[in-house]
Amino acid sequence: MDKTITGTVVKAISGFYYVAAGNKVFECKARGNFRHSKISPIVGDKVNISVLPDERGIIEDIEDRKNCLNRPIIANIDKLIIVSSYTNPAPDLYMIDRLTAVAVFNNIMPIIVFNKSDTGDFTEFASIYKNAGLNTYIVSANDKDSVKNLKYEFVDSVCAMAGNSGVGKSSLINALFEGFNLKTGEVSTALGRGKHTTRHTELFKNSLGGFVADTPGFSSIEQVDNLYNFKIKLPQTFKDFLPFINTCKFNNCTHTTEKGCSVLEALKDGKIQKSRHDSYCRLFLLIFFSRDKVVCHGRCYDH
Ligand code: GDP
Ligand code: ZN
Repeated sequence: MDKTITGTVVKAISGFYYVAAGNKVFECKARGNFRHSKISPIVGDKVNISVLPDERGIIEDIEDRKNCLNRPIIANIDKLIIVSSYTNPAPDLYMIDRLTAVAVFNNIMPIIVFNKSDTGDFTEFASIYKNAGLNTYIVSANDKDSVKNLKYEFVDSVCAMAGNSGVGKSSLINALFEGFNLKTGEVSTALGRGKHTTRHTELFKNSLGGFVADTPGFSSIEQVDNLYNFKIKLPQTFKDFLPFINTCKFNNCTHTTEKGCSVLEALKDGKIQKSRHDSYCRLFLLIFFSRDKVVCHGRCYDH
């Protein structure tokens, strides 16, 4: 009998899956029966493979997924590293808050990173997120000392980078990990945006026992398979609202305009930041008026 080992799918290209196990990467095909069960392996999946004598493998089983994002398609993310920069492009707080909410909803820990600290003072922005109870870092990809603390977030974790093009995601990965040499794009001054420097979903093994995905996307509620659940759980995805959401006058309080709302009270008292509540209301309206048209494609076990 062939030997069976457990690994992580790090790349999927035209029917071939590359599975990292130990210090090796095995080129694998999936067993035919996956096609019938509507579930096929995706990047991030923990899989059991049997290894053939020529070192190629066959994916036999896929473990249950902790989460599964659609755009790009990736599974089992532990942390979403949400990167912003001071200029080119300037921080988009609504985007940070939206990504944070989507991450929490998908059982992913959001980490807030302000990059390019050499170009401006991020203290005020960072304090919004520190006050909201989120792990927040001010760094510069050009200064390796500044990323030392951020590095700990990557230990034994599967992390994905998110944020607009040009904020320095690739540069940060290069600064954080020896041996990585991702291409970085020059910021196009005409557009104020970086060039598309990342192309396909791939997990890179880092030197701290974890994986990093450098992927575009991660910016929309299309990541949410079940909008109805997201609608219901939205207040819980704002960590700073949690101490207040159960003491509102009305059980079905939406925390947007109601009298006797503890969240609005906390906002007035400065316990919740205005930009956070503004984002919440914007997201609430967006979801409220969205049709429940986002479907799961049968890929996820947990929705
Ligand atoms: P990505 O599109 O998010 O992956 O961004 P890149 O890593 O390609 O970086 C976009 C541009 O920002 C490049 O020209 C980088 O050299 C520049 N950049 C990245 N990090 C920093 C930083 O900390 N400070 C400054 N001044 N520029 C940076
Ligand atoms: Zn309320």
